Amino acid sequence: MKLIINHMRIALTTIGCKLNQSEITNLKQNLLKAGYIIVPKNQKHDLHIVNACSITHGAEQITRQKIREAKRKAPQSQTFVMGCLNKTIPEINHAFKNSTEILKYVKKNYAKAQYPVPNTQCPKTRALIKIQSGCDFGCTYCIIYKFRGKSKSVTLKKIITQIKNLEKQSYKEIVLVGQNILQYKYQNYNFTQLVKAILQQTNILRIRFSSLDPRLIDGDFLALLKNPHICPHLHLSLQSGSNKILKSMNRNYTTKQYLNIVKQAQKINSLTSITTDIIVGFPGETDKDFQNTLNFVKKIEFLKIHIFPYSERQGTKAANFKNQLFPQIKKERFNQLNALAKKQKAEFCKKIKGETLPVLFEQKRNGYWRGLTSNYMQVKKKSSKNLKNQIVNLKI
Ligand code: SF4
Repeated sequence: MKLIINHMRIALTTIGCKLNQSEITNLKQNLLKAGYIIVPKNQKHDLHIVNACSITHGAEQITRQKIREAKRKAPQSQTFVMGCLNKTIPEINHAFKNSTEILKYVKKNYAKAQYPVPNTQCPKTRALIKIQSGCDFGCTYCIIYKFRGKSKSVTLKKIITQIKNLEKQSYKEIVLVGQNILQYKYQNYNFTQLVKAILQQTNILRIRFSSLDPRLIDGDFLALLKNPHICPHLHLSLQSGSNKILKSMNRNYTTKQYLNIVKQAQKINSLTSITTDIIVGFPGETDKDFQNTLNFVKKIEFLKIHIFPYSERQGTKAANFKNQLFPQIKKERFNQLNALAKKQKAEFCKKIKGETLPVLFEQKRNGYWRGLTSNYMQVKKKSSKNLKNQIVNLKI
């Protein structure tokens, strides 16, 4: 029997990565399409759906905190959770594997609104497209592949249809997201072939990639950078500049291979920017290993480095490694690398100064239009014109 709640209201929360963001956006669109009302969390609601993240101990704590806080404010509301959930808590009424299961459950058990639901979505400029989830690898610090299982890819037809719909809504840029997007495999399509199919079958103006795994990059993939619709920006996950630590992380590439990828990419398009993630203070990381990371980073000139002090994650192999480091050492290494990252960003920006780059403007704040260059630099421009969702060639 369906639960009839007049004007049933659903609040959505997402924590963590771009994959989670894209899943919740998709779910939101499907719920709206099915006739349910979506409200902000701080408004009265009957159901709260949370896309959880447990990648680190901290992320898991935030997930639990958000669930408890929402339950305190709306004790009558049901709480459903999907995504990466390590263990359940009493405040959770149901845990689901994914958004498809939730949607099915909601449609079956909750009556939709008795009147047409206005589409309250503001027009946006950039959309996240989930192309796969899960991962076939087993990095020793990672728990995610345990939650999400082996890599599962979205069908080509579904991806193309989604992009065409976004084009109709005037989106200019899509970001292909997943746990490890280079593991995309659907029938005869690998990731590069998927991107070529998107280029052939849609008119989307900009395609950006989320995090890329260096062990899966080949010449065919890099050749995509020749296409003007592909953003010359690689978020190439490094994790460490020490081959010894990379091995212990089970990353299966070396710094030499990484450097080669960067050189080839920048040879194809000299404006290609590189951003990355680095873990500092991994178990067994000596001063010399950390110095190797600093030296290696100096060879690349990153636009941005996301630095993560290693945090022990129960259930991973690395949590049982000997030689865990003291928090103070991790903090010192974080600070050193952070100082270098800031310097590198400034150097990269200096190098780009004077170049003309296409900028997709997203919003106006404090009198300035703000947007992203194709190679992922944030820029601002004073203009009385409405630049929202416009791609403008701008001298940096
Ligand atoms: S590549 Fe490694 S870090 Fe990334 S999801 Fe797979 S196991 Fe986790």
